[in-house]
Amino acid sequence: MFINQEYINSLLKEAKHAGKEEIQKVLEKARKGKGLSHRDIAVLLEISDEEQSREMFNIAGNIKKSIYGNRIVVFAPLYISNYCVNNCTYCGYKRTNKIARRRLSRDEIREEVRILEKMGHKRLALEAGEDPVNCDIDYVLDSIAAVYDTHEENGVIRRVNVNIAATTVDNYRKLKAAGIGTYILFQETYHSPTYDKVHPNSIKHDFEYHLTAFDRAMEAGIDDVGGGVLFGLADPKFEVLALMIHNEHLEEKFGVGFHTISVPRLKKAEGMDLSEFPYLVDDETFKKIVAVIRIAVPFTGIILSTRESHELRREVINYGISQISAGSCTGVGGYREHEEGKIVQQFDIADQRSPLEVLKELIDDKHIPSYCTACYRMGRTGDRFMSLARTGQIQNVCLPNALMTLMEYIMDYGDEELYIKGEKLIFAEANGIQREDIKNLLLNNLQRIKGGERDLYL
Ligand code: SAM
Repeated sequence: MFINQEYINSLLKEAKHAGKEEIQKVLEKARKGKGLSHRDIAVLLEISDEEQSREMFNIAGNIKKSIYGNRIVVFAPLYISNYCVNNCTYCGYKRTNKIARRRLSRDEIREEVRILEKMGHKRLALEAGEDPVNCDIDYVLDSIAAVYDTHEENGVIRRVNVNIAATTVDNYRKLKAAGIGTYILFQETYHSPTYDKVHPNSIKHDFEYHLTAFDRAMEAGIDDVGGGVLFGLADPKFEVLALMIHNEHLEEKFGVGFHTISVPRLKKAEGMDLSEFPYLVDDETFKKIVAVIRIAVPFTGIILSTRESHELRREVINYGISQISAGSCTGVGGYREHEEGKIVQQFDIADQRSPLEVLKELIDDKHIPSYCTACYRMGRTGDRFMSLARTGQIQNVCLPNALMTLMEYIMDYGDEELYIKGEKLIFAEANGIQREDIKNLLLNNLQRIKGGERDLYL
């Protein structure tokens, strides 16, 4: 198996002896953009000196700026079913929790989607518990179709990413045919003894089946896959190294690694107590995790959810985050019923702000909120996306596309304050584009959007 527990443990053990000088050498290597070895990554994870931490955050921030610019992609989750046959000790949807179980009907999905569209969302992550009877693949496919064909005035969901349990090559083929964006699956933990312990007596108990899910997804032709770890279950250093090794395995076998990596941290949920989890990750460690991942895999998107507080999100965006969720609800039917307080969420959410508030702050902080879905719709996925990213060519399309989607947002969903801030940023960024042909095309498209046209992209 490509995740070798002893190998990772031995790397971690050796790296504990790294002194300040060795750490400095690795930081230099990172600054120069030279590839990092497993040992280098393990060494970076050992940084505790404040100055060296700051240096690492700077390096990560610069890598992010040079590859992703100042764009931040915004999305929201959509929970369609909380039926679950698993018994994950950390999850509010575990089967032993006596909560009301439900799955959304087609009409209910459409209702949720309309609410999300009214918030301005264009990309969703579809989420469900695992239940082969109550939430089978046909139900998931039907739900995806319902999302794609629900439109609210200018609202439309243009990309549905899917986060459902590990499944078969056949089912992945069906998801691919349904037009999904990224297939997302968190390994939860790469530490197999912990994996066994937190997934007792259930389908999800099979570590190897879960670990090889992306191999099956890629075999089925899904070339954008998103990995992740639920930080708080096992030693975070072990998890980061394992994530990197998993990524390399996919690169070697399929020519492309993770499209995105998510960094969820364990939160309080129904039927679990955080004090039972000895590896909870504090904020300082969390920031380092994000920075190390950014440095180790510069071209992979990093996703941050509303599990994190407003303040932490604001800071850690600067160390390498490229996508955030906003206005999220993690209950089934949650967007409609949220106000009535009826919903059992899968876990607690810390950042409760609306997308409008989130966007205002992003702009104040000189980020460009983006609802772009162009790469996926132009077929720039998998290794095609990665080779464009590696050569820097992606900048020529991503920035204009981000600005066009922001223009749509401020026109359709913004208030006056956002309109003023947003328009100023859009034109400052557009006028700063070096290539005259792209700049002119963009300026023309921005006027077309102002004139009422939608969904223009390169
Ligand atoms: N059922 C699918 C599976 O097994 O992969 C999808 C999982 S669920 C809808 C999405 C993710 O929520 C899980 O993979 C897990 O990492 C995360 N999650 C579960 N409980 C959590 C908690 N208490 N705090 C934070 N995240 C949690």
